Amino acid sequence: MHTPLKKLVVASHNQGKVREIHALLEPYGIEVFTASDLGLADPEETGNTFAANAELKAKLAADAAGMAALSDDSGLAVDALGGAPGIYSARWAEDAECADGVRDFSMAMEKIHNKMQAAGGPDTARFICALSLAFPSGDVHTYEGKVEGRMVWPPRGDKGFGYDPVFVADGDTQTFAQIDPEEKHAKSHRADAFTKFIKAWFPQDQPNQPGQ
Ligand code: IMP
Repeated sequence: MHTPLKKLVVASHNQGKVREIHALLEPYGIEVFTASDLGLADPEETGNTFAANAELKAKLAADAAGMAALSDDSGLAVDALGGAPGIYSARWAEDAECADGVRDFSMAMEKIHNKMQAAGGPDTARFICALSLAFPSGDVHTYEGKVEGRMVWPPRGDKGFGYDPVFVADGDTQTFAQIDPEEKHAKSHRADAFTKFIKAWFPQDQPNQPGQ
């Protein structure tokens, strides 16, 4: 049984992720700070896996902030591209034309589409999320989640962020950018990892449980 988690910093400068993590944490009464609130730097992601990158970001933020830090490393893995862009999902949206920190996802989605056309093969893909909770003591806990689906073209919808307009989850017909945020929060890779995190840290405080 873990000690209660009263406050944490979300170790990300990605506004789309920060917004979703805020919404997912809201029912648990945790005081949430963001990396921008605390002026934390965005470290270079040098790991080879989602989990390694999530742990690296959470540990650095916990040390710098002196409080628990939660970080998410996530991305899109396309089967026809051997799992690319994977841990490089954000990097595929950067090009020489973009100012530092500005990403062009229209370009990145088109790059994936063109490479899929050239490669042939299945349209299957998944979003993957590694969520790490680190403490200034050095203690770190990592939870992984995913959502299976397929790639569509052209992009559809203006909700969500990143690659949402080209991803349809299994059992759906609309992209992640067409469905409401609440619906995405119920089935996304981030929600899957979050469910595992919440079960570990708030075992008797699960939202929507019968009788609560
Ligand atoms: P990183 O985890 O900061 O390296 O960035 C992950 C990148 O993966 C994001 O910038 C998005 O491009 C993409 N990504 C992660 N989660 C989602 C999502 O829920 N929807 C769409 N794109 C996502």
